[in-house]
Amino acid sequence: MKRSFILACLILCHSIHVSAQVENIVLVTIDGLRWQEVFQGLDHALATHEKYSERSEQLLQQFEGDPGESARKLFPFLYNVVMKEGALIGNRDANSCAQVTNPWYFSYPGYNEILTGFGDPSIDSNRPVPNHNTTFMEWLQDEVPGFSGNVAAFASWDVFPYIFNSERSRIPVNVGRLEMADTGFEATLNILYEDIPSPWPTVRLDAFTHHFAMSALQQDQPRVLYIAYGETDDFAHDGEYDQYILAAHRTDRHLAELWTYIQEDARYRDNTVLFITVDHGRGEEPLETWQHHASKKSLEGYMEALAEYEEGIIGSEAVWMAAIGPGIASKGLVQTGENCVGSNQVATTLLKLLGLDYREFSSQAGPPVNAILDK
Ligand SMILES: [Zn+2]
Repeated sequence: MKRSFILACLILCHSIHVSAQVENIVLVTIDGLRWQEVFQGLDHALATHEKYSERSEQLLQQFEGDPGESARKLFPFLYNVVMKEGALIGNRDANSCAQVTNPWYFSYPGYNEILTGFGDPSIDSNRPVPNHNTTFMEWLQDEVPGFSGNVAAFASWDVFPYIFNSERSRIPVNVGRLEMADTGFEATLNILYEDIPSPWPTVRLDAFTHHFAMSALQQDQPRVLYIAYGETDDFAHDGEYDQYILAAHRTDRHLAELWTYIQEDARYRDNTVLFITVDHGRGEEPLETWQHHASKKSLEGYMEALAEYEEGIIGSEAVWMAAIGPGIASKGLVQTGENCVGSNQVATTLLKLLGLDYREFSSQAGPPVNAILDK
């Protein structure tokens, strides 16, 4: 009896272990999307503000409700799928906290922190300068068997090739047209990319980032795919709250498409973690600071244009994160108590999920976010 139990366990427990093995990572960032919208939904004052929301009526019709209800309407994938089967951190109204640890609260320092595990104070501008730090993707590609030629990045912001130091790292980072279109769909996207103007000089529309990335997932099947959506931040800087909200809602749909594909594809099903986070928060009070983000310290340098806000943009260090897949606990919202989670913990969390010794990657990186991991 005992013996057959052990035998059954040897077979069964092994298969359980194998099915929980994480083989692939899809990491997504959504530039400057506030935790307030993710957990409280539509901001009524901004959604009805005549300067910030030309499409006020549409916003109210689609997304109005009490905070929980509004958030669910705005982010159906995050609530119907990730909140039930995965884990989220960052609802500051419910004792769940995440923040950047870099001293600047804007994009390049934030992305550097997420990708290298270290909030490097020397990265103090958004200028396109090759990163002297090593991302976890570069480390995987160069140091861990099975990852060479198996990592890729698609981003809306054209500074990402510098953040990854593509020239040194050789990590393919697509931010414009796709040089080698392998399919008719990719060729069509290239034509549309040339013909549809972006509102911004350094950021393409997220539709291109998303569909090029989806196509890479299908064609090249990378083991680590990074997707950096950007519209939310740019619409916010432009003072268009309605477009910021509509972009956030589209990105939620994009996440649903990604996850549906992942769970339908033989290569990715049940062995892929989808991890979502942001590079910085935004202001809340006074009202107009929702458009901005900057630390007090950054006002003396790169963010001097915001010097009128003497304390910096309060709240722009606040971020959030969400994850789903094998190895991620089905906890929904995770309370963090005294220990606000840092963006410097993302890279090591992903490496730990892949079964690697994250300490070999970097001695400066923050520890994994164990609170979201299956024990
Ligand atoms: Zn920004």
